[in-house]
Amino acid sequence: MPLTIAIDGPVGAGKSTISDEVAQRLGILHLDTGAMYRAVGLCVMRRGMDLQDEAAVSALCEAGGAQVDVRYENGAQRTLLNGEDVTSFIRAQEVGQAASAVSRYAAVRKMLVRRQQEMAKSQSMLLDGRDIGTVVLPHATVKIYLTASAQARAQRRMLQLREKGDETPFEDILREVNARDDQDMHREVDPLRQAEDAVLVDSSNITFEETVEAILSIVEAKK
Ligand code: C5P
Repeated sequence: MPLTIAIDGPVGAGKSTISDEVAQRLGILHLDTGAMYRAVGLCVMRRGMDLQDEAAVSALCEAGGAQVDVRYENGAQRTLLNGEDVTSFIRAQEVGQAASAVSRYAAVRKMLVRRQQEMAKSQSMLLDGRDIGTVVLPHATVKIYLTASAQARAQRRMLQLREKGDETPFEDILREVNARDDQDMHREVDPLRQAEDAVLVDSSNITFEETVEAILSIVEAKK
């Protein structure tokens, strides 16, 4: 039986980097599902479509105009949009916002959830996202809900931005974190929530290494 690990949580909880590290130490692949929603968001932006136009975005997905694939290069995820490697374009702030907008639509979720389930069927994998433990892999071997206070998440985001020379004020970053939480937790389709059988890990006051260790010991106990 393949080992499946679901890690869900709000924006800025460190899911991607923590998941990368945990998967690497376990010797399994990590699928960052947010990257797939970002690829769809990028597609809609590039076409100059209205992100709020659910009918148009859904029609695009249903017609196969926003095909998202994932492949691995030396264990690292590359995200493809209609065959083009868009890994380096999807991290921009606007693409994150576009992803958050299109991820509200049932047709987008249906297309991506199906793809994610196919990938996790035949191999051991760690998936991180918002709905992995609740929708994508309801029978995952291990479910983690990784969170931190909005203040702690905004603080981390600010440090990342400062390293890149971005001086966005803390208040603006905190507002963005709260807005994304609001959108992810209150959308109608598959909102972000902790699965009943998920273990809560709050990383507000622990280091990266301590968070990784905490998750590895939960995995060890469940295996
Ligand atoms: O995790 P990341 O910030 O890259 O995700 C981008 C957006 O994609 C999130 O704000 C969320 O709205 C959406 N998403 C989702 N379901 C997932 C992963 C991401 O709705 N499984």
